Amino acid sequence: MTLEELKAAVTQMGQPAYRAGQVFHWLQAVGVTSFEEMTDLSKPFRAALQERFYIANAQVAQRLISQIDGTRKYVFQMHDGEYVESVLMAYHHGLSNCISTQVGCKMGCTFCATGRSGFSRNLTAGEMVAQVQAAQRDGGSRISNIVLMGMGEPLDNYENVLRFLDLISHPKGMQIGMRHISLSTCGLVDRIYDLAERGYGLTLSVSLHAPNDQIRRKTMPIAQRYSMEALLKACNLYAQRTGRRVSYEYAMIRGVNDSEACARELAEKLQGTLCHVNLIPVNPVAGAGYQKSDQRARQRFLSILEHHGIAATVRRTLGSDINASCGQLRRRKQEEVSHV
Ligand code: SAH
Ligand code: SF4
Repeated sequence: MTLEELKAAVTQMGQPAYRAGQVFHWLQAVGVTSFEEMTDLSKPFRAALQERFYIANAQVAQRLISQIDGTRKYVFQMHDGEYVESVLMAYHHGLSNCISTQVGCKMGCTFCATGRSGFSRNLTAGEMVAQVQAAQRDGGSRISNIVLMGMGEPLDNYENVLRFLDLISHPKGMQIGMRHISLSTCGLVDRIYDLAERGYGLTLSVSLHAPNDQIRRKTMPIAQRYSMEALLKACNLYAQRTGRRVSYEYAMIRGVNDSEACARELAEKLQGTLCHVNLIPVNPVAGAGYQKSDQRARQRFLSILEHHGIAATVRRTLGSDINASCGQLRRRKQEEVSHV
């Protein structure tokens, strides 16, 4: 609930409106998981809250810690038993938390473990906040950056994601500003325009993974709905409006999208735009039949982009010893449960 909604609820319960500020502080800034912990509220009021409301929680069902760089991967269990994944990464500029926005995903990208396991439900804004707070509690220090790049398509759960952004950046909450938040999308063009309109100023990451519609449609069903031309137009507008570079994700799949011709075509389309390309060796997922491009192909691709003046990097891999790309841990967890 927003502070305004809490105010309305609290007044309806016969309490002064300022109590809402106290509740909001406990929920958003402290991150309590029970009403019991709200010690500056009277016991009867805490009990009344308990009767009417629940606090979204993310229980650690599994935690993997990288021996190499300390990256933590979590499987969280939600109140209805569903599992979602989060990752906590340490960068020089602080702790970055990658969270999920849906249980599963409807978009069906063929290389993605989440996409391959179907869609269950949207996460609420509270469940997104709960992931950040649970990771912060477990990690023991302040999370400074958030990426909406876990399970799910954030722009397919638009209202809840906007609500989450308002909560997490709230001056009386965790105060994580838009400059420290990235949102990754497979490219829901209409929503990108909406987001640009609102002027949130967060970093937009777009999963491109191909230099043209023909190749893109082989792996990403969303490419049937929106052409790459329409997508890039929306991204360029977003960059102009916010003054921020759009980050294009490009998972390199051997023999599918990693040729020199692909690099040249991509470079030509992006030339002169405010962008950055992230090259990622595709993470092979069971059943997909895709393989990583080799290092030579990655270097060649990178130098063609650079030659055209496009900022590009091969993404550094964190937590390679606990490598289970997003969606795989959840699937394993579900199998475990169904075998019991
Ligand atoms: N739905 C959003 C955000 C979640 S996916 C989106 O698609 O952008 C987060 C990122 O992981 C996306 O860039 C996605 O394309 C990428 N991804 C999914 N499966 C992958 C795999 N097997 N290897 C490499 N990247 C993958
Ligand atoms: Fe969904 Fe993103 Fe996976 Fe595609 S890559 S299926 S949009 S989570």
